[in-house]
Amino acid sequence: MDLRDKIRNIKDFPKEGINFKDITTVLKDKEAFNYCINALAEIAKEVEYDIVVGPEARGFLVGAPLAYATKAGFVPVRKPGKLPADTYSYEYELEYGTDTLEIHKDAINPGDKVIIADDLLATGGTVQSTINMIEKLGGEVVGVYFMIELEFLKGIEKLEGYNVKSLIKY
Ligand code: AMP
Repeated sequence: MDLRDKIRNIKDFPKEGINFKDITTVLKDKEAFNYCINALAEIAKEVEYDIVVGPEARGFLVGAPLAYATKAGFVPVRKPGKLPADTYSYEYELEYGTDTLEIHKDAINPGDKVIIADDLLATGGTVQSTINMIEKLGGEVVGVYFMIELEFLKGIEKLEGYNVKSLIKY
């Protein structure tokens, strides 16, 4: 299957100049969704891990099914104020301003082997911050997997030294 045909491109969303990759058209298509998660599970066979971490919100849609399919646990990384128990917060720089992500402090234990799954690698800021949080809690990131990579944004440069793979590159 060519997953590329199933991804919907929306011009100028959420603002002018951005070509938004809409994965809802993959998710609603039973063949495409199944293919996508199976393809990621196949790649993830190269490593051993117990936990899949997915950043809010589309990382949940890719990470949780991947965790289920490969019999791993799932840990959400969320926007501030959403996680109920004790959290570790991480603030990071954006082009204009900052953003913060949170993870439950007890979600990762020292020595845990972890993979990260998300829908799309753009500038890499989200995933770089997610890696920082996992490592701060003592986890080891053994794989970083995406449905889509926007190569021209060079997010991969922020992830040097990590095992990064994606199903589709633009
Ligand atoms: P980044 O931190 O720049 O790598 O991007 C963070 C998140 O923003 C990605 O995981 C996507 O969910 C979303 N995103 C960024 N650019 C796009 C795009 N062109 N189309 C769809 N989602 C995007």
